[in-house]
Amino acid sequence: MRIIVAGGDGFCGWPTALHLSQKGHDVSIIDNMVRRKMDEELASNSLTPIASLEERVNKWQELTGQVMRTYEGDLQDFEFLKKVLEQEQPEAFVHFAEQRSAPYSMIDREHAVYTQVNNVVGTLNVLYGIKDIVPDCHLIKLGTMGEYGTPNIPIEEGYIEIEHKGRKDRLPFPKQPGSYYHLSKVHDSHNIMFACRVWGIRATDLNQGIVYGLSTKETQLDPVLANRLDYDSVFGTALNRFIIQAATEHDLTVYGTGGQTRGFLNIEDTVRCIEIAAENPAEPGEFRVFNQFTEEFSVLELAQMVQKVAAEEGVTVGIGHLENPRIEKEEHFYEAVNTNLLELGLKPHLLTNDVIREILKTVLVHKDRVIKENILPTVKWK
Ligand code: NAD
Repeated sequence: MRIIVAGGDGFCGWPTALHLSQKGHDVSIIDNMVRRKMDEELASNSLTPIASLEERVNKWQELTGQVMRTYEGDLQDFEFLKKVLEQEQPEAFVHFAEQRSAPYSMIDREHAVYTQVNNVVGTLNVLYGIKDIVPDCHLIKLGTMGEYGTPNIPIEEGYIEIEHKGRKDRLPFPKQPGSYYHLSKVHDSHNIMFACRVWGIRATDLNQGIVYGLSTKETQLDPVLANRLDYDSVFGTALNRFIIQAATEHDLTVYGTGGQTRGFLNIEDTVRCIEIAAENPAEPGEFRVFNQFTEEFSVLELAQMVQKVAAEEGVTVGIGHLENPRIEKEEHFYEAVNTNLLELGLKPHLLTNDVIREILKTVLVHKDRVIKENILPTVKWK
């Protein structure tokens, strides 16, 4: 299958591009490199040294013989996108290419505006590009479990059957996102759903949980193929961030009580979920929603798991309960459905102490690269 991976230089996109290529798909990558520029803006870095995209794809070709074409450009630039779609004629378009940090979107007005314009306009351009140039192409769009927020009822996969005043309907599940970033994803979901209904586009919205881990079978083949790993308070996500804090003997930074519960998945499962979605496309006109996570944990549970494994490896760290910089419920009900991907054959890699130990060992190799000033949160919601 001819597949475009937009955002293919990023944390999820790079290992996904490799995995799809390894499975024999004809993969090309779009990326505008903005994530690397944000490292400069924030005076931050990836814990793992990462090669340029050019070096990465050249190494992949050298090792496997597989060619991945790359297009450096911005999804907000419709003329650029149009040319790529005309040239590649993709059957699937995997869309990771968005600003994905909640704290980054909450820095100030400029960052909120950038996040929403980048994400919403980029996705609108992709929808128009598919409609005009490759109408049968399946859009596989990365959403987030954060779109739903933390309602006091179980979270369904995209839709809920509602009975109201004696009438019934299947309606989009209510969304209560917790940042301008998460809101941008909700706006995307509405725009995609509309495009499916009106133009007959086929789309899968993958409401992904928080991804942990860094390597996959393919990224491990050579250091030049290594994936990026974020640990700073703006881009580092729970679990990966805790493991890196443990490696540097920094107290694990739990925000508030740590009762915040979320869905999580291993990066190995992210790449597999995309493969499953691509190989089982949505029908024309269908807006299909999958909740893409494998397990639920509270933030405090994760910190305690990391603390225990670190102790077994001879590293002693405390758990620090910081004043929560975010506005969010710290104790709440959380139960979400995630059966669609399992029914299509996903075999989850679950979070065990050994999985945490493996990540910790990789992280320890690079711990001298950690810029300690970037660990504590500086962005506040209010
Ligand atoms: P990332 O920042 O590492 O990668 C995103 C890539 O997209 C970057 O390489 C960036 O340069 C590129 N990009 C951004 N805007 C672009 C534009 N306008 N044009 C072209 N390229 C652009 O992020 P990630 O962690 O790989 O996340 C990928 C997707 O998955 C995002 O949409 C994110 O919302 C979603 N997601 C991620 C997680 C997670 O835990 N990492 C969880 C849920 C959902």
